[in-house]
Amino acid sequence: MRLRIHHFFDIVRDFGSGKEISPHPHGNCYHTIAEEIRINSKLEFNLIVASDEICRGCSHLIDGVCDDVITHRTDFTGKEDFNNHLDKRIMEACGFEESKKYSPKLLCELAHKYLENIEYIYQGNDAAHTQKRKENVILGLIYYSEKHGFLLTSNH
Ligand code: SF4
Repeated sequence: MRLRIHHFFDIVRDFGSGKEISPHPHGNCYHTIAEEIRINSKLEFNLIVASDEICRGCSHLIDGVCDDVITHRTDFTGKEDFNNHLDKRIMEACGFEESKKYSPKLLCELAHKYLENIEYIYQGNDAAHTQKRKENVILGLIYYSEKHGFLLTSNH
């Protein structure tokens, strides 16, 4: 399986906020992948800067590329370009590599790098929104590490 790293942290954020993750009207696989991650901390996947397993079935996925648009930025209009920008920043800031295998447990253990760089990663987004994201990712990490009985390797 191949995942965009920002999708992984969106899922952790949603675990933290307690949001009910139900099927999306666009038909993507966010809810099923979130459930796979919730129950299996050893799930193995590669990280990819491109459409991923979550995009499968989405009505916006055209010839392997997302045709959706975003409205919360002045520097991007296409979601594909914005997602690639975001994922490149996360991969670079965290030292993640497309050629390596990752698991939810490992990514949670390394998530302090994402949190330390979150203002840089989401630079250009609403600052309060990024702060809320950070709080919910931390709650999600606590929830997930307690559920699967592992210790986070860094203080948040
Ligand atoms: S194709 Fe676009 S809108 Fe659909 S899940 Fe992927 S990134 Fe989201």
